[in-house]
Amino acid sequence: MLQKNDVIQVTIEDIGSDGAGIGHVDGMAMFVKDTVIGDIVEAKIMKMKKSYGYARLMRILTPSPWRVEAKCPVARQCGGCQIQEMAYEEQLRFKENKVRSHLMRIGKFAEIPMEPIVGMEDPFHYRNKAQFPIGTDRDGNIIAGFYAGRTHSIISNRRCYLGVDWNEQILDKVLEHMKGHHISAYDEATGQGLVRHVLIRYGFTTKEIMVCLIINGSTLPKSEALVESLCTIPGMTSISLNINRERTNVILGREIKLLWGRTYIEDYIGDVKYQISPLSFYQVNPVQTKKLYSLAMEYAGLTGAETVWDLYCGIGTISLFLAQKAKQVYGVEIVPEAIEDARNNAAINGITNAEFFVGKAEEVLPEYYATYEKEHAGEKAYADVIVVDPPRKGCDEVLLNTILKMQPKKVVYVSCDSATLARDLRILCDGGYELVRCRAVDQFPMTGHVETVVLMSRVNTPD
Ligand code: SAH
Repeated sequence: MLQKNDVIQVTIEDIGSDGAGIGHVDGMAMFVKDTVIGDIVEAKIMKMKKSYGYARLMRILTPSPWRVEAKCPVARQCGGCQIQEMAYEEQLRFKENKVRSHLMRIGKFAEIPMEPIVGMEDPFHYRNKAQFPIGTDRDGNIIAGFYAGRTHSIISNRRCYLGVDWNEQILDKVLEHMKGHHISAYDEATGQGLVRHVLIRYGFTTKEIMVCLIINGSTLPKSEALVESLCTIPGMTSISLNINRERTNVILGREIKLLWGRTYIEDYIGDVKYQISPLSFYQVNPVQTKKLYSLAMEYAGLTGAETVWDLYCGIGTISLFLAQKAKQVYGVEIVPEAIEDARNNAAINGITNAEFFVGKAEEVLPEYYATYEKEHAGEKAYADVIVVDPPRKGCDEVLLNTILKMQPKKVVYVSCDSATLARDLRILCDGGYELVRCRAVDQFPMTGHVETVVLMSRVNTPD
């Protein structure tokens, strides 16, 4: 019987969704952080459950052929990256295999028409957004950095390899300002202190920069001096405060106070322009997002005559992208502020063939379907293409059943969790669709996450 504190030898065969390596000992799955597929390691058991356990890496006995040295000196401590020590080609292979095996195992698909995973040329510096927590170290110095994995202790690190180069300079200026004017950092344990986080956003296409300080108060002492110093950075476009006085893990509060410039920055995905405020949701990897949406567009096969639904549409990014080549797009999203952004983004791009609804996809679509039939003398609601891009838990079954009733020619499924994707595709498949194309896209290099785009087509049935 394996138990806590036992030292085990284990070969790492897989990586879990949180990025930890997985191997087997006596039929038990063991999770070992900081390991790479192919490593043979010695590890100490920290916790045992019925059929699996967690162990801490002690020694690498035989390094995997795919093990590389991490670029970042705090890669292991920091919760941001999980697989920096795995060669990028192997990360890609691992992600593609994960999608394939979920589709086979959970989706029960025998043949997967997988196209090669879409990776990045440079898998670092891809994030357009960073939120650095501000804190105080043991010696009383103010630091900026990242939370260590699973905890809220701050690892001092101003140069994140996933973020843009400007981050470091901006943080230096903020920390210098805080030190110069004796401004305190927020302390989660006591709820005291002023500066909680620094949010930085960068428009990859426009090169516009946004800095937002999240504070536990209503004003920042000598903010004019900080503004002056930040404005020397080329591209600075928006400097603001966000007020958050709650004792909460939620980073942003509701209220924004503009200190300088515009309340938003602008950026493009393809030809579509987006206005992004501190509170807006926006995809963090614009380079891969463009590839992801282009793929969704290609799978949708639009000619300009189609009616398209984009369910779980967020700020309408996919909807507006597809609206360029469709007759009419309908977007549905549960968060009202996101829909406000979607409508605004449609307007600034002069897009008039996209309409947005606030609500749950599994309520809005069935209601639309039911009322349409009533109001149109039994004629059924029709869509040529339905796109879904749900959160990790996947689509609600009520929604999938409505899609089956509507019988669109194509369903394009964009997924951030291949296990729920596989489950949902099986339902579509049993309802008269076939899996035609499938491709993984690496939106988050150095982490265990993978996005997938799938094209399901209706198998011809006599009408
Ligand atoms: N397609 C968008 C966002 C996808 S993220 C983009 O590419 O940017 C998933 C979105 O689904 C989130 O915006 C979330 O708020 C929304 N959401 C979650 N549950 C939902 C539901 N039941 N119905 C509709 N939208 C939902």
